[in-house]
Amino acid sequence: MRKAEKALKRQQRRLSKKQKGSKNRAKARKRLARKHLQVSRQRKDHAVKAARCVVKSHDLVVYEKLQVKNMVKNHHLAKSISDAGWSQFTTWLEYFAKVFKRTVVAVAPQYTSQACSSCGVIVKKSLSTRTHTCPCGCVLDRDVNAALNILAKGRSTVGHTGSMGRCRPRNACGESNRYASGGNS
Ligand SMILES: [Zn+2]
Repeated sequence: MRKAEKALKRQQRRLSKKQKGSKNRAKARKRLARKHLQVSRQRKDHAVKAARCVVKSHDLVVYEKLQVKNMVKNHHLAKSISDAGWSQFTTWLEYFAKVFKRTVVAVAPQYTSQACSSCGVIVKKSLSTRTHTCPCGCVLDRDVNAALNILAKGRSTVGHTGSMGRCRPRNACGESNRYASGGNS
């Protein structure tokens, strides 16, 4: 994706250097348009493949209903969020849920990264803090902790039906966890 973006920028620069109304400018504009199309197809391809794979291989998929608009306002996040084509991806998640008859749930994003997935206490952290370290002894990668919270939220939304046995229990923190780098061992 980044590579394609570089190419886009380059062609945009080339276009702006061409004289207005010239044939070369028209050609450059066409090339740029083609590149844009190619990049958007690439993005769509990726969203479809990833969503299909995730839904097909799981009984339950829970995702965070991110407020993409708000996140794009945060300049640190803007790039990766709009890049990821997050809303496009979630649209495909919902689509494949119907196709493969799986459960896909969106949950509210509140506290998913701040709360401890093991004990529920709020552990404040800034975006640059990549590790969740709770007084209860739970030490997890920030994203893993958030993922566990999201999963727990999703499971409480759909209720515990039999098909969820394969999912990770909420209190798995610390035991046999390859992300745990400390804790009370
Ligand atoms: Zn805790």
